[in-house]
Amino acid sequence: MFANLFAYDSHIHTTYSGHSHESMTVQAIVERRSSLGLQRIAITEHVFDVEDLDRIVQITAEIPPDEENVLLGVEMDADARSLDGALVAPTQGIDWVIASFHRFPGTSIWWHDKSFREAKEEKTIYNQWLDWVHKVIAKARPNVLGHLGAMICQLSIVHEFDKSILADFADILQNCRKYGVAIELNEAMRKKISPLQKDTYYRVFQLAKQEKVKIALGSDAHSLSQIGQYAWVREIVGRVGITEKDCIVPEKG
Ligand SMILES: [Zn+2]
Ligand SMILES: [Zn+2]
Repeated sequence: MFANLFAYDSHIHTTYSGHSHESMTVQAIVERRSSLGLQRIAITEHVFDVEDLDRIVQITAEIPPDEENVLLGVEMDADARSLDGALVAPTQGIDWVIASFHRFPGTSIWWHDKSFREAKEEKTIYNQWLDWVHKVIAKARPNVLGHLGAMICQLSIVHEFDKSILADFADILQNCRKYGVAIELNEAMRKKISPLQKDTYYRVFQLAKQEKVKIALGSDAHSLSQIGQYAWVREIVGRVGITEKDCIVPEKG
C-alpha cells in the first residue's frame, strides 16, 4: 500500500468535461501527479450519455503508456431513463468505474435543477432513487458509487443523515458488500449539500466501516489545484477513524 492514506486521488476531471478549468489537460494532470508526489491517480471523465465515450477514447490516447500510476477511469451515469441498474455505456477496458447519479430518476432533470419538484413527489423520487441504487450495485457492479446521496440531498425531506436515512444507507451498504462495490468519500460533495447534511454525512462512513465496505477517496478535481487536496475528507477520516485497510485504491484492470 502507499505512504499514507491520502497519497492517491481516484476522481479527477479534464477539459473534456466542458466544465473544468482550461488547465486540466491530460498532460498537465499527469505532471501534477508527479509534482505532488501522489502515488496513483485515476482520470475519471464524465460519461453522461453513450456519445461521451469519445472523451474516454481521447483520454486513453493521451495518457502516456509508461505512466503506470495514471489510470484510465470514468465517472459514468446510471441510466436514468431505464432505471434498470445499467450504466449509460459499456465500460470494457476502463480500469476504474465510478457510477454516479446526476439526473433525477425517470427524468432528464439534472441534480442541481430545482424543477424536479414539478416532475414528481419528493417521496417518490427518494424511493425510486433507493431502488435504482440497489439495481446499479447488483447489475452494473461498478468499482465505486460516486458521491452517494448528493442527489437526494436536494430534496427538502432529507434534512440530515438521521436514523431513517441511515437505515436505507445500511441496506445499500450491505448490498455493496455483497457485490464488492465500494463507496466514495468525495471532497467536492461538501459544496453540494446543506450544512446540516454536511455535518452528519460522516455517519454513512461509520456504517461503511462497520459493514466492511471499502471506501475510495476522491477529490473530484475540476482544476489542477484541487487534485489530491483533501480537507473535508480528512475531517471525516479522522472522525470515523478510517484507516488504510478500510480503503481501496484504483488498480489497473
Ligand atoms: Zn459527479
Ligand atoms: Zn466528478
